[in-house]
Amino acid sequence: MKIHEYQAKELFKKYGIPIPRGNVAFTVAEAKAIGADLGTFPVVVKAQIHAGGRGKGGGVKLAKDRDQVEEYAKQILGMNLVTHQTGPEGRVVKKLLVEEGLPIEKELYLSVLPDRGTAKIVFMASEAGGMDIEEVAAKTPEKIIKVYIDPILGMKGFHANELAFGLNLKPELIKQFNAMVFALYKVCVDYDCSLVEINPLVITSDNRVIALDAKINFDDNALYRHKDIIEYRDLDEEDPFEIEASKFELNYIKMPGGNIGNMVNGAGLAMATMDLIQQAGAAPANFLDVGGGASAEQVENGFRIILADPAVKGVLINIFGGILRCDRLANGVVEAAKKVGIKVPVVIRMEGTNVEQGREILDKSGLNLITAKDVSDAAQKIAAIAKG
Ligand code: GDP
Ligand code: MN
Repeated sequence: MKIHEYQAKELFKKYGIPIPRGNVAFTVAEAKAIGADLGTFPVVVKAQIHAGGRGKGGGVKLAKDRDQVEEYAKQILGMNLVTHQTGPEGRVVKKLLVEEGLPIEKELYLSVLPDRGTAKIVFMASEAGGMDIEEVAAKTPEKIIKVYIDPILGMKGFHANELAFGLNLKPELIKQFNAMVFALYKVCVDYDCSLVEINPLVITSDNRVIALDAKINFDDNALYRHKDIIEYRDLDEEDPFEIEASKFELNYIKMPGGNIGNMVNGAGLAMATMDLIQQAGAAPANFLDVGGGASAEQVENGFRIILADPAVKGVLINIFGGILRCDRLANGVVEAAKKVGIKVPVVIRMEGTNVEQGREILDKSGLNLITAKDVSDAAQKIAAIAKG
């Protein structure tokens, strides 16, 4: 799960990680009031969306006086902000973070996350922080240093020092920097984060180390033990189909640009199916794993969600009946088809437990469903149909 910068900063504050003074605003009037309360200028007006790259997209502005705070708040609130992370469709800005502008001497990059390869917690840091970190990672990866921490042993002083030295910090900054990285490590572990990132982490001209930006992603599988984080969820920032799917515990992810809906049981089979669709010359419109033990109701809801997507020009159902028996699947598909009505071609490939009963249910349904003899055949058929 993702949260907004202002929410991540709220968590930082609880852990004693220095952040700029500021507050969240939902209207231009609120933004103006916060700007005035800060008592200093410049004031930074920042779009709050679940995507980075806002600065380059025009979603972060430095206001030199009250009038400019109002001007930028009007400009950014409600704008459709397009960044390299939002995709070309962009994201409508519904909240602003209004903060004191700081005198920046240097912009650093700092993040902490679990590293699956080593089963450790890794800190990544770079002197070349700021808006071009992606380019730094691609062109000069040696400018990013990594410090690995065994979670059983925990973080020690030498880990923090290694980061501080790696960043060439002035000696007078090391104490506050080290306190900050210890707190960040704690945030990451306490909340089961999949990423905690500060870009930029700034050194101010008066020698303070401050988190100017804040991004935290959480492991969804651990959210049940963080009720306070679930409250941060912002449905405005999520895909409506994905929200609907999460109500039925379906693993659904919308794939922008695709036209073939697909419903599969098992994540591996779903990935393979998406590859086959691609190979056949079409593009998947979604990932949907209905799960090994899906009920007829889940199948029905999955199918309904796929069919509701206007981008879908054809559907491929690929099920290997194991725990989810083929007759149950067939019933779910037929029920959903009757309720929603199918306006696009549907190709079904199924194998496994009770496959004969399943085929019989589909045949007797009177619905126009195309059966395939195997997975490749199914992918070829749906791709050919989608091409028209
Ligand atoms: P992002 O582009 O979505 O990552 O948004 P950031 O919060 O990182 O802001 C983008 C850039 O705006 C930063 O890299 C800074 O250069 C600039 N910026 C943000 N806040 C301030 C500030 O308080 N003072 C100054 N001078 N620049 C700022
Ligand atoms: Mn940033």
